[in-house]
Amino acid sequence: MQNDIQEILISEEEIQKKIKELGAELSKIYEDRNPLVICVLKGAFIFMADLVKNMTVPLELDFMAVSSYGASTQSSGVVKIIKDLDVPVEGRDVLIVEDIIDSGLTLSHLIELLKSRNAKSTCVVTLFDKPARRTVDLEADYTGFTLPDAFVVGYGLDYAEHYRNLPYIGILKPEVYSH
Ligand code: 5GP
Ligand code: MG
Ligand code: MG
Repeated sequence: MQNDIQEILISEEEIQKKIKELGAELSKIYEDRNPLVICVLKGAFIFMADLVKNMTVPLELDFMAVSSYGASTQSSGVVKIIKDLDVPVEGRDVLIVEDIIDSGLTLSHLIELLKSRNAKSTCVVTLFDKPARRTVDLEADYTGFTLPDAFVVGYGLDYAEHYRNLPYIGILKPEVYSH
């Protein structure tokens, strides 16, 4: 698996350091608000786990799965709910945890949905951002790292469901795509 990686963009140590900072900042913001922290599956599952371990306030968790990519590396522009939330968001302070914002289509769709369900507030934390690729006008409230316009894998992010378990973020060798 490691042999398929051409270059490590952000190391495990850098990622963990950043998540500690984000956790401390969000703990201040959400003190006494009992936020509903929503993990956007599957990509954000590792970030969510590491982030909430660094949040020192009472909070609740829920999970949602949306799909816009299939097995390809390009957004289809179609966002489908694969798994909906278990709890109502009405009146809740919602913190959406995202792995990466690329076109922004997935997230803008999700925010609209949560607003239509009368969330009290919605806030987005993303570990990675590729602003050069945006097709909708949307920014995260909190961003870990800004990345160049490249397809990355690791730390929750997949290519054809593989590489999610790498503890760092990297770029695949070109020959991996032609398998
Ligand atoms: P968007 O809707 O913003 O275009 O894309 C959102 C989703 O596409 C992300 O949550 C992630 O699952 C996937 N995605 C976007 N860019 C990348 C990337 O560079 N690598 C991987 N593995 N997935 C990506
Ligand atoms: Mg995502
Ligand atoms: Mg994917």
